[in-house]
Amino acid sequence: MPPPAPEKVLNESIIRLREAEELLQADRDGEAGAIYRDLISVPEISALSYYRLGEIFNRAGKADEAYRYHRRAFAADPRLASRILRTDHVHYHYVYRQVEQVAVTGCPLCAREGRSYWAFNMLANLDFNAGFDPVRLWNHCSSCHHLFAAAYPSDLARVLAGSANQQYSAPDTKLLAQSGRIISGIRNRAPGLRFLEVGVGAGEQLAVAREMGFDVTGLEIRPVHAAQVSARLNIQVICKDFLKFEASPGFDVISLGDVLEHMPDPVRAIGRCNSLLDHRGILWISTPNFESAFSVIMRDRDPMKKVCEHLNYFSYGSLERLLTGEGFKVVDYQISRHYSGSMEITAVKENGTALSGGRPPAGLQGPSRPDGRYSHGS
Ligand SMILES: [Zn+2]
Repeated sequence: MPPPAPEKVLNESIIRLREAEELLQADRDGEAGAIYRDLISVPEISALSYYRLGEIFNRAGKADEAYRYHRRAFAADPRLASRILRTDHVHYHYVYRQVEQVAVTGCPLCAREGRSYWAFNMLANLDFNAGFDPVRLWNHCSSCHHLFAAAYPSDLARVLAGSANQQYSAPDTKLLAQSGRIISGIRNRAPGLRFLEVGVGAGEQLAVAREMGFDVTGLEIRPVHAAQVSARLNIQVICKDFLKFEASPGFDVISLGDVLEHMPDPVRAIGRCNSLLDHRGILWISTPNFESAFSVIMRDRDPMKKVCEHLNYFSYGSLERLLTGEGFKVVDYQISRHYSGSMEITAVKENGTALSGGRPPAGLQGPSRPDGRYSHGS
């Protein structure tokens, strides 16, 4: 008997593909997976089948296989995006290209080896940055209870500086009242009014902090956002990587709103916060928590798992341990109203660290705080 005509094979394969997609929608991963395995041999459907199998392996807790299948999907078709995304998706025209990467072999918090934990294709997320590799392997450090990216672009600073985050092109006035509640809580604990925000976004928090009496400075790695916020608010915004920021110490508040997870070396970043803050200074952090109620409920649909610019994914435990190790005490935990799945931590500087030169607390140095500083309750 002659083999079936190619178009007949393709038509039958498309019918089977629809069946597999419906099974997947119904969470019947095992049955769907069996069909996708068959469809790998059909050239027109091969890349999509590898991609779906990558998702299925990931959900089954097999991160290494998931990672391999997501890679195979791009090997089968560098234009995978056009097969998995809607035509109006911002990354529909993305074509895979290899990105030179730094491999992260040890946990950024404790240097111990991690275990592969999740593998995602980040393309489907709206904030995918084409300077990153779209296939992300998250490693888990069981010692810190922390997740970290297994690799990131070698020229990370250039990739970030050369891109703009669409989300920050204009301020969102709906965020101002929420920022007000956050800043009010910070002000009630802060020893003074010098406020540094690292990562200014569209400037909402800086604007609110100034409205509520703080003397504000912004620091931003992306030139386009630094210039926009500075011009919009007439506030000093310095365009620099936080670890290269030289300033005299003595800040009363440092705000790290959704930036710590972007930093390859969070230990140095928190140590630097310690050195820049006065004794009893406040460090406010918002960052995704992979154990948040939101993340647990949403599973694969949690978008925070697929943000390529995030290099670290904290649990409350890993963040608290980092902060304690760098001289801070956590005094408050809130669930973010801005980003689903993020935690908002307020911490107080209690001790200097080696990085801050072990300076004695400001209160032991004699002179009282400068005039004009806000002092709660006095
Ligand atoms: Zn660790």
